[in-house]
This record gives sequence, C-alpha cells and structure tokens, in this order.
Amino acid sequence: MNSLAHIDDHFHDHCGVFGVFGHPEAANLAYLGLYALQHRGQESAGIVSTDGNELHLHRAMGEVDEIFQQPGVLAKLPGSLAIGHTRYSTAGDKALLNAQPILIDCNKGKVALGHNGNLTNAAEWRRKLEHRGSIFQTNSDTEVIVHLLARSQARNLSGALGDALNQVEGAYSLLVLTQDELYAVRDPRGFRPLVLGKLATPGGFAAWLVASETCAFDLLNAQYVREIEPGEMLRISKSGIESIRFAPEKQHQQCIFEHVYFSRPDSIIFGRSVNESREMLGRLLAREHPVEADIVVPVPDSGVPAAVGYALESKIPFRMGLIRNHYIGRTFIEPSQAIRNFGVKLKLNPIRGLIEGQRVILVDDSIVRGTTSRKIVRMVRDAGAKEVHVRISCPPTISPCYYGVDTPTREELIASFNTPEEICKFLGADSLGYLSLPALKQAVADTEGRFCTSCYTGVYPTDLVQLEVRGSASNGKAGGASVTIENEPAAAERPVAVERES
Ligand code: SF4
Repeated sequence: MNSLAHIDDHFHDHCGVFGVFGHPEAANLAYLGLYALQHRGQESAGIVSTDGNELHLHRAMGEVDEIFQQPGVLAKLPGSLAIGHTRYSTAGDKALLNAQPILIDCNKGKVALGHNGNLTNAAEWRRKLEHRGSIFQTNSDTEVIVHLLARSQARNLSGALGDALNQVEGAYSLLVLTQDELYAVRDPRGFRPLVLGKLATPGGFAAWLVASETCAFDLLNAQYVREIEPGEMLRISKSGIESIRFAPEKQHQQCIFEHVYFSRPDSIIFGRSVNESREMLGRLLAREHPVEADIVVPVPDSGVPAAVGYALESKIPFRMGLIRNHYIGRTFIEPSQAIRNFGVKLKLNPIRGLIEGQRVILVDDSIVRGTTSRKIVRMVRDAGAKEVHVRISCPPTISPCYYGVDTPTREELIASFNTPEEICKFLGADSLGYLSLPALKQAVADTEGRFCTSCYTGVYPTDLVQLEVRGSASNGKAGGASVTIENEPAAAERPVAVERES
C-alpha cells in the first residue's frame, strides 16, 4: 500500500469535531456529522456516547463510514449525548494510540475529549508534567490538557478546564463530554472554527449540536445558531447553555486558509460563506493577474470556486478541462512494479477536446512543494494546450503552520526559497500569478486583522516553544495526578491496520 500524499500536494487539516446534546440517537447523529466532516481528517475516527451512566467509546483507524458502518458498532454507543472526532496526522503519528476522542477516568470523573488544533507549548508542558510524575499514554498534545485538567484544584469541571486551558498556548477547538454535560471551547485567538447548531427532536425538544463546520448541520437539517466565540466555553446541560469566558481577550487569529482550501465551500466559517470567499479570491486574482487566454480551467475540486470567480471577472469561459477521480481512497495497491508511477493521473485526467489548441488559465488554490502542480501543467500541455497560465488563489506559502495543520517543513515549501519567476520555470508554465496578501484579506472582508496569515508571512502570533511532543509516551504505574486513558493494547499486541474499541 502506498500513500497518495505525493499526488495530493496540499496542506492537510488535522481534525474535525462534532458533538450532540439531548437527542435519543446521539451516536447516529455524530456518525453523520463526522461523515460530513470527513475532508478534515481521514486516518482515524471515533465516537464517545453516554447514557447518563457509562461513557462508551469506539475508535478505529480508517474513514468514518468504514468504521461506523461495521455491523453493531453504533448500537454499542447508546445515550443522548455524544462527541465524535475525525483525524488526519503526520506520518509518525498514524496510530490508534493517537485516535480521538480520548476517554479518561480521573479525579474529575469520566471525561472524553476531542480536539482540533495544535498546542504550541505542549512539549514543554509534557516534560514538566512527566517530571512531576504524570504518565502519558499517547503522543498527542491533547493529553497535556488531560493532565492539567486532572491536576486542577477547581471544584467543578468548567473551572478545571479553564485552569488547564489557561496554561496552554496555541490552537484548540475542543469538545468535552461527561456523563451529563457537553462542553465546547475555542481558544482565545480562535484559530480553528467551531459552530453551534440546533435540531428538532422527535419529542419536540431541541437537541444542541456543535461542529467544526456548518456543512455537518446541513446534512442533518439542523439550524446553524452561531459561532462559538474565541475564548468562549459553552457548558451545555439539562439546565440549558451557559457561556463562560475562560480566558482574557486576545487578538483573533482565525485561520485564513480555512477559506482558501480546508473548509467545504458549502460551509459558513468565521461568519462568512466559504464559497463566496473563494469566488471573490478568483475575481481578485483576475484583477491582479489578467492574461489573454481562451478558457479558465480549475484544478478540481478545491480550485473550482476560485476558477468560477476568475472566469466571471475576466469574462473568459469556464471549462471543466480536468476531471477528478473521486474513487481513490487514502491508499492504493500498486498492481505491479511494471505499471507503477501513475502519479497524478490516478487522480486527474484532462478532456482533450476542451483543451487542445487553447490558451489555458489553470486555477488552483495553492502550491506547496510544486511537484504536483508541475505534473498537472505537463498533463495540460500533453492534452494539446497552446499556452498554460497558472493562477493561484492565495499568496506564496513560505512557512509551516503550527496551529493544527499538517504542513511540510520550510525547506520543502517551494515558495520559501524560490521567486515566482523561478517557480513558474519549474512548473513549465507560460506565466504564474499569485494572489496578493491584501487581496486575500479583502476577499474574506478582514478589515480588523482578525485572521492568521502566518504561512504567508512567516510571522507567528504565539511563541513556538519546542513543538515536538512525539516519542516520549511513558509506561509505568499510575501515581500523583496521572490519569487512566482508555486506549489501544500494548504495542506488541497492536494490529497493524484496523483496531476497534467499544
Ligand atoms: S499558519 Fe496558515 S494554515 Fe496555519 S492557522 Fe495560520 S493561516 Fe491557517
């Protein structure tokens, strides 16, 4: 089996989260919610539900449907409260060990957590906590929150959670489930999205839903209520919803790349339609980088809305000159050594009849390493294009992300060390135009500097303190503030691909 990463040269979001409070089929709703959020993470998924007594967990490696379509799995997740999580990770972390939600049994009772984001001071905290006797059982930064929660002297969970979160830095959109409460929390800078929704139940009451993106509500015919504010903790219980400010105000740093690429175009993110933003990116790109050409062709799927915007603005016809194969999964089995190296052709195929003899404007959302873009330009030329003009709907990506996105190192980012002219030459294109940073901000109506743009500027809004947290999961007897985490079997008995817990 080979990873398809080499033909999907994009940044990847780490996770999606979905929570349900007050619906008799909470786990089923969580499953559907995760299904709608599958694009945010494809390596593992999990759901924890509660019937008011026990917390029930099922997690496995794989995509949401292959995990939860297994006979009897959802039936083992009873109750009217649930949280779900779908995860993408970097290579070293692909293990059930780090799948979420994490389920713990600590001095605050049984608690489950699902986290989208990355803590930038997790490694530092991990060292400190291990020094004080904490025993970590995963490689994930989320476990730092768990240990800080267990050590808090606060009398209730919202206080303990606030204590823990005020000690960590970075990005977190977090769901926390107890036997009778659901918490939804967003970090004070609001890097990653988190939204509140409402669904009519069979009994006529409203069930509360929380999700990374509003597209998950659309699937369930639920109503989008509002964003969870940066620095806000929602405590959802039988008494209703309580909004708690757990941290001082900070300059907001909402991830602008959610609008460029991560989020689904049918979602409302940070109060704004993603599709609208992407069309505007295309329109502004056409204004900044006009060129005489015959057709505008998107790199599907993510390049489509910006290409529509470019075509509308330039009045050059839009054509679906590249067709994407949607049926390749995360991995594929190479049939034989002799016919390997299909490369990008596994995913994209040109329509020669549309492209032949045409001057083509090829619109994509980003260039990361440049290797895939180069193959696509070659593919379009081989299909008979007279000229290929590449247009990118964001500025050059020059720096990695530390806030919940899987990115290559700075050395691997082609724009980090090359000018647009050099990149154009590398791609084999006739011209290359990137959207400017001011235009990107204009497209998302960012007049107050509410968005993070660090991967385009290299300037970060937080300290980046020793980010690596991998490889130091320890074993040993519990003691001090250590917590018990329901987790996978010991390494020696760990199956390679799919594991399940219920
Ligand atoms: S660095 Fe880039 S990808 Fe990461 S949060 Fe900021 S804008 Fe988003």
